[in-house]
Amino acid sequence: NVVESPYASAPPEIGIELTESSDRDDSIGYFMKKKLRVWCRLPSGQWESGMIQSTSGEFALVSLSNGNVTKVASSELLPANPDILEGVDDLTQLSYLNEPSVFHNLQNRFSKDVIYTKAGPVLVAVNPFKDVHIYGDDFVKAYRQKRLDSPHVYAVVDTAYNVMMGDEVNQSIIISGESGAGKTETAKFAMQYLTALGGGSSRIEQKILQSNYILEAFGNAKTSRNANSSRFGKFVEIHFSKLGKICSANVEVYKLNLRKASDYKYLNQSDCLTIEGVNEALKFNILREALDVVGISKRDQECIFMTLAAILWLGNTSFQVTENGNQVEVLVDEAVTNAAKLMGCSTQELKLLLSANKNEAGKESVTRRWTLQQAIDRRDALAKFIYARLFDWLVERINSSLHVGKRHVGRSISILDVYGFESLQKNSFEQMCINYANERLQQHCNRHLLKLEQEDYELDGIDWTKVDFEDNQECLDLFEKKSSGLLSVLDAESNLPKASDLTFANKLKQHLNLNTRFKGERGRAFSVRHYAGEVLYDTNGFLQKNKDSLHADFLQLLSACSNELLQFASKMPNDSEKPATTSCQISSSNWQCVVTKFKIQLFKLMQRLDCTRPHFIRCVKPNNKQLPGVYQADLVLEQLRYGRILEVVRIARSGYPTRMTHQEFARRYRFLLPKTSGAQDPLSISIAVLQQFGILSEMYQIGYTKVFLRRGEMEKLEHRRKEV
Ligand code: ATP
Ligand code: MG
Repeated sequence: NVVESPYASAPPEIGIELTESSDRDDSIGYFMKKKLRVWCRLPSGQWESGMIQSTSGEFALVSLSNGNVTKVASSELLPANPDILEGVDDLTQLSYLNEPSVFHNLQNRFSKDVIYTKAGPVLVAVNPFKDVHIYGDDFVKAYRQKRLDSPHVYAVVDTAYNVMMGDEVNQSIIISGESGAGKTETAKFAMQYLTALGGGSSRIEQKILQSNYILEAFGNAKTSRNANSSRFGKFVEIHFSKLGKICSANVEVYKLNLRKASDYKYLNQSDCLTIEGVNEALKFNILREALDVVGISKRDQECIFMTLAAILWLGNTSFQVTENGNQVEVLVDEAVTNAAKLMGCSTQELKLLLSANKNEAGKESVTRRWTLQQAIDRRDALAKFIYARLFDWLVERINSSLHVGKRHVGRSISILDVYGFESLQKNSFEQMCINYANERLQQHCNRHLLKLEQEDYELDGIDWTKVDFEDNQECLDLFEKKSSGLLSVLDAESNLPKASDLTFANKLKQHLNLNTRFKGERGRAFSVRHYAGEVLYDTNGFLQKNKDSLHADFLQLLSACSNELLQFASKMPNDSEKPATTSCQISSSNWQCVVTKFKIQLFKLMQRLDCTRPHFIRCVKPNNKQLPGVYQADLVLEQLRYGRILEVVRIARSGYPTRMTHQEFARRYRFLLPKTSGAQDPLSISIAVLQQFGILSEMYQIGYTKVFLRRGEMEKLEHRRKEV
């Protein structure tokens, strides 16, 4: 049921021509005479298929497929595709490309459990929210042996693998889509295919697959949008030997300190020492097995669980205000004693630090007391810090077990799976970071699929009608602009002693007023028009979260703990060596705000992606209820629109995906020409070859530097080449 019309913001479509003459195949007269189906937009916003019965003026009488007859303005009509094109597996095959045709095509396939469809160079995956039985060894083999060629994540990975082996160029598989759309699952299927393909005698492929469990167990959380939502971005790089076998791998995470300490507190108050309380027993066993496979010793595993338990107990420690009313003390009970025991420090010391701050001023030590709220915040900051460093430690251990063989430049495949775009009822600092990252990623996709592709045509001077699309540069400027962008303003405010979330919000309104993507809202709020819709942010807690510093006295405590993981936690990662670990910083001396670190990580990620040949998978969420079999038209349409799927198809359909410089082309095919051919220079040779082999003129274009061919034309020439 469509609640609100999704078409309010729909891009203008080229409708059916009003002319009643039936000469032109896009005219109303033609559709009427040939009894062709049309899409008819009803006042509810829904599209229904039907046939035009008659027209008068600007109106048409349409008999709908549901039996009703309706009178609509002809601007509400769009051509539908002939039945034979029902459910095609590549949207570029549609004769008429418009929103209702695309979404109907996807729906038609979805209803038959066919979740993958090609949109030219992009694979669209509609989340089935159930097992669709198209994965596993048999399917891997079938795709590898080309017995199956219907669209599939396996097919995308197979292509990437073949190109890598053939051209020795690093490849990347970029998986995008909003939260709950299926990115992480898709990434796992991609890894499954690669490990099956490149598995050798080493157990590295098992380690790669098992590392997913560990990362998910510690880095995912339940949100309103996804029961298993990634709270970290993941970049897995797999390296292959000359023979195409996996020789080494590397995992990088882009994590935000997203878990609230309150999560721990409410996990299970009574049953914290046994970790079964955190996860179901079965999942817990899978996790333990995964830790074994990755080579984390039993002793280290104990250490992990002790640390987790310590965090939970920390969350349970409570405070009381002293009788004179201006001091805060830790209530000494099992919570703080257990936390101290698990951390390996004295209860007394932990208690003191949680309620007071020791500052070493010369030889005298000055003790400062905190307010109740400050004490709680400090406790939560400590718990969060330990958790984040535990995650870092795991990533480090996973990587040292995956770095086995030598790496080769040009023989790697990377899989990128980040946290999806989020627009919740209440959006805070975390959503801002997530959505900013998605904005960057979207630009990367736009640039490759829409911009570079078209620029190539223009630069080479071929005949090309430009497909326009809305660029998101202005939104990126909103975040990144030096000194006046959101991130800079946030950092500046975080450094001011008297600043508050409200002063921050006001500064934003001052600086960003002119940016059309920004809107100041009442009080502490502001909204941003992202590529995937407008999001309202509440700045409450922004400054604190951006600082996210841990006081030096806590670090001292951690370094003195007998729990080895906490000793690791007290040492800061070296940023220059490890570009992509968690964003947290230690003392006020080497102070860097969270968003700045986040931005730097993101830029580094983009640079690395730029050195690869990308393959795109767009995940689509068919409903917000995480239910199988439910296909919500407005929701799907929105995602297709944000993903610029129609534009991508439009370019792919009228584009020339195969291209070669005249030199290359001439070198490869010149020998096919008869000796008598007078062509000398590469450009003339190219033309002569194309003419000699009867390649139709609409199937190619000659640019200044390159030959551009339509899909499939190169294969014809290759056949000839092999025949000779
Ligand atoms: P987030 O951005 O929140 O991390 P996501 O895009 O990574 O979201 P997933 O966790 O991959 O989303 O998918 C959400 C759920 O959808 C999964 O837990 C699973 O139940 C279901 N799902 C996704 N893809 C598939 C698939 N191909 N087959 C069956 N179920 C799937
Ligand atoms: Mg995910």
